[in-house]
Parts: sequence; structure tokens; C-alpha cells
Amino acid sequence: MTHATGRKYLRPGVLPHMWCAGCGIGTMLGALLRAFEELDYSRADTVVVTGIGCTGKLDDYLLTNALHTTHGRALAYATGIKAFRPHLNVVVVMGDGDSVNIGGNHFIHACRRNIGLTAIVLNNFNFGMTGGQASATSPEWSFTSTTSYGNPERAFDICALAEVAGANYVARSTPGHGWEMQGLIKRALANRGFSLVEVISPCPTHFGRRNDMPETVQSLRWLKQHAVPVERYRGLAAAERQGCFPIGTLVERDEPDFSTNYSRVRARAAEGRPA
Ligand code: SF4
Repeated sequence: MTHATGRKYLRPGVLPHMWCAGCGIGTMLGALLRAFEELDYSRADTVVVTGIGCTGKLDDYLLTNALHTTHGRALAYATGIKAFRPHLNVVVVMGDGDSVNIGGNHFIHACRRNIGLTAIVLNNFNFGMTGGQASATSPEWSFTSTTSYGNPERAFDICALAEVAGANYVARSTPGHGWEMQGLIKRALANRGFSLVEVISPCPTHFGRRNDMPETVQSLRWLKQHAVPVERYRGLAAAERQGCFPIGTLVERDEPDFSTNYSRVRARAAEGRPA
């Protein structure tokens, strides 16, 4: 029995990659490419859209169609592609900066629109590429290069935001759960509406060394201790949930997606039937 490697989507000669030792972006890239292979995605019909920052460099490694866009606008570009060519598999890979900091408004409306994009968000708890500044997902009272005395702000729960904004599929994983992550990405790709897979992966270079996780193994241990399968998480008392987060499929719905609704608009327009 052979296992998917994802290599047929990987540009030859690009390894070793640019990410720091212990960073979870490479694990996420591997899971994404293996999911493509298991779903038999053609390179010609697949578009990966990225933003800016460490995660935004991911498009450099791909043989699929790829579009490297401006900070926070990846979802806006991807929305245009999907609206114009609904048959394409459009995947948007972002960091927390692209998705819920600078791109927060695009994120909310992509969920509300329930447009058939698969968003993979690598949440590293800070702005990694520019030196580890606090972001909207830095945990409260954590230490970053701009919160030396502790972060006084609460963090966004990206999955909860996607759920209330209307996404059809919402899941969470970590680099410590690579095989499970691959399965979640496949389910996200298969859903017709907007899908989110959040990958919680504290940046070892900036966030980890300021928050008692200077080595990769400590970061992975932290993830294993705090990530709880959602079925078990739902059975925990409020006090037992403190500091933990659920992983797995959190939301799976079958609400009409944007392209389905928009095809009805096109049909009405073709018949000359305004309201
Ligand atoms: Fe990963 Fe942080 Fe290094 Fe960026 S700076 S590649 S997020 S470990």
C-alpha cells in the first residue's frame, strides 16, 4: 500500500524550505499537499492564494496555480477567482495577520457569504516575520516583542468567529496532529461552502522563547497538553476547559454556498426577470 506524499504538487529544487526549525508551517504544507493527492486534484484546476508573512511564503513551493497577494487581502483575491471560475479548487493559506488582524473584515464576509473557499489559517500567536509583535490571537497576558509586561488584550477565537459568521465547515488542528490535520483539510476541501481549518502553531522563534517554550519539543508538548479532541472537550466542566482548546471538526453544515446562489442570479438575469 502506498501513501500520498504530495510531491507532485511541490516545485522541484525548492528544499530546504525557508521556515525556522520547529515551525509548523512545513507540517501544514505537507498535510495540504497530501490531501490534494488523496483527492486527486489536478494542478491546473487548483489555485492556492496566499497573503504576506511567513505563511504567505508557502506559494513559492507549489506547482499548482498560485497567487501571492497583499497583506490581509488574500480572501478578497480568492473571492474574485471563485466568483468568476466556480469550478476551480481555491485554497487560501494565511497567517493570523492575514486572516483576523489586517484581513479581519474580509474574513467575516467570506464566512457570511459562505463562498466555496478553503481557508487554512496558521495561527502562530504573533507577527512572526516582522519580529514577533502582538497580534489579535496572542493569548491574554502572553509576552511578545510589543507586550514585554504581558498582553492586556483578549485573543480572538478564530473558529468561533467563523462559526457565528456563517462558515459551513470549521475545524482546528496543530502540528502535533499531522495525520488528523490532513483528514480535516480533506473534509474542508470537500465542503461546498466556506471552510476553515485553523492550525494552532506557536511561533518557536519569537513567541515560544518569550513564553517558556524555547525549544520545539516544549512547543509540541504544550500543544499535546492543551489540545483536546472536541468530543472529549464537550464533556468537560467549565473549570476543566480552562487553558485548553478543542481540536477536530467543530462545525459541519450544508447551507447554500455563494456560487449556487449566484448561479440563480445569473439564470434570472439571462431570462430578463428582475424582481
Ligand atoms: Fe515560523 Fe516564527 Fe520562524 Fe516565521 S519566524 S518561520 S512563524 S518560527
